[in-house]
Amino acid sequence: MRGQMMDRPLLVSLLIEYAGRYHGDTEIVTRAVEGGIRRSSYAAVERRACQLANAFARLGVAPGDRVATLAWNTDRHIELYYAISSMGAVCHTINPRLFREQIRYIVNHAADKIVCLDLSFVPLAESLADELVPVRHYVIMSDRVHMPATPLAGALCYEELIAAETTDFAWPSLDENTAAALCYTSGTTGNPKGALFSHRSTVLHAFSVCAAGLIGLSMDDTVLPVVPQFHVNAWGVPYAAAMCGAKLVLPGAALDGASLYELFEAEQVTVSLGVPTVWLALLQHLEANKLKFSSLQRTVIGGSAVPPAMIRSFEETYGVRVIHAWGMTEISPIGTANTLKKKLAALPPDERFAVQTKQGRAVFGVDLKLVDAAGAEQPHDGVARGELLVRGPWVIDGYYKDAEASLAVFDEAGWFRTGDVATIDDDGYLQIVDRIKDVVKSGGEWISSIDVENAAIGHPDIAEAAVIAVPHPRWGERPLLVVVGRQGRVPDKASVLQYLAGLLAKWQLPDDVVVVAELPHTATGKLLKTQLREMFRNYPLPEA
Ligand code: AMP
Repeated sequence: MRGQMMDRPLLVSLLIEYAGRYHGDTEIVTRAVEGGIRRSSYAAVERRACQLANAFARLGVAPGDRVATLAWNTDRHIELYYAISSMGAVCHTINPRLFREQIRYIVNHAADKIVCLDLSFVPLAESLADELVPVRHYVIMSDRVHMPATPLAGALCYEELIAAETTDFAWPSLDENTAAALCYTSGTTGNPKGALFSHRSTVLHAFSVCAAGLIGLSMDDTVLPVVPQFHVNAWGVPYAAAMCGAKLVLPGAALDGASLYELFEAEQVTVSLGVPTVWLALLQHLEANKLKFSSLQRTVIGGSAVPPAMIRSFEETYGVRVIHAWGMTEISPIGTANTLKKKLAALPPDERFAVQTKQGRAVFGVDLKLVDAAGAEQPHDGVARGELLVRGPWVIDGYYKDAEASLAVFDEAGWFRTGDVATIDDDGYLQIVDRIKDVVKSGGEWISSIDVENAAIGHPDIAEAAVIAVPHPRWGERPLLVVVGRQGRVPDKASVLQYLAGLLAKWQLPDDVVVVAELPHTATGKLLKTQLREMFRNYPLPEA
């Protein structure tokens, strides 16, 4: 029997209509790319999104067309999210930190008709324009006063474009499975692959971000996503904040510790989100200048494993709760979040921190399973390791226009293969052990590079650590630890190995420690281990 409920589609336009009506005066504060602080509101963003949609329609944007952004976290970027998706087009966020060749590839692959860009990215677009064949217009996200003289053909000024339009636009009633947004994964090999989010998946994911088991975002919050809008839609925050009416604070291009801290304090931010490398820089700034947070309550950290020392430092020194989360571009991105069950919250600090180091429990909607190399399901006992597979309403069911890549990533039952190796304990806490291709296969044993990195980062002289496998005649592979010193200090190999000996089994200890000035990162802040492996391919390990 069919239920007798209205069939109202879940659409991105509903979010901004709701925020405009019920949280209209709630602020959206931006550190402007042009300099200074700009204050807007949900009501203003809703009006301006309508003006933008009118302008795009006039420029010939049709349903399903891709309109791209090359932009920082700003109010204008939020307006673009809502205008493009709500009118039935697809908002394609380009990560400007990708290699030029990758940007060229994805703009052509997505066939972007319009690229909207911040002033910072005008030189990049100018240098690539000849190769960006499908692009008809470049909309420079600024006003007339700041418009640069640019040879970009068809360059338009954002503020002039919308000033000419009315603030009325009737958002179409779309099928909720219509594509809303497109984001390419920055894989370390091969061409980037597109995850094409639907209106339905985007709205459902936003409910999940607001849920108490994840961030528990509400209208009492002021949220500052440090994670860029070009990295999986700032983990869904622009949608979730509108859904619950949270005040949004957007850092623009200034992501250094001092600028972020100033914004956290001036706007009294309560929640923030970002990758570990960002917090590393921010915490170093606080430490060096003897500063404290006066309003920050919680921070969601993910994208790479959060070092246990960081969780402890946030809580013990700054009184901020860390919610460790795991996800992927292909999962919109959030899959798990570490909030503590009652019985675990009461544990002594050391035991509790050990649980908080895990990537957390599945959020409602996301199913997890572990399988071994033969595809046999593994128990959730905290010990058995396997590849992590997921399914859910905000998990991709194929890559955008890439049938070949799509073939490789689903099992027979349609679950998505994450490429992560993990355990899941009997309370449901997921722990990412490694990427399948990053584990160090030593003799018959697997050494988790993440375990060794997490241990190393606790050494007082180490700021950042990476472990890679180096070929070894007897063991097949052995771990090499590559580290960056903390603020001018040079970690001493003997001291590091002695420190690790207290935390790891003997066979897990790295065979050598190399100090470097900097570690290579991907465009989304992850350690670029392919490059490290290449750098240390012929590294002579010392004799045991
Ligand atoms: P991306 O699609 O760029 O967000 O990358 C997704 C990958 O990042 C995952 O498959 C994991 O390997 C890694 N990742 C994300 N969050 C975490 C985390 N909390 N701990 C360890 N690895 C993570």
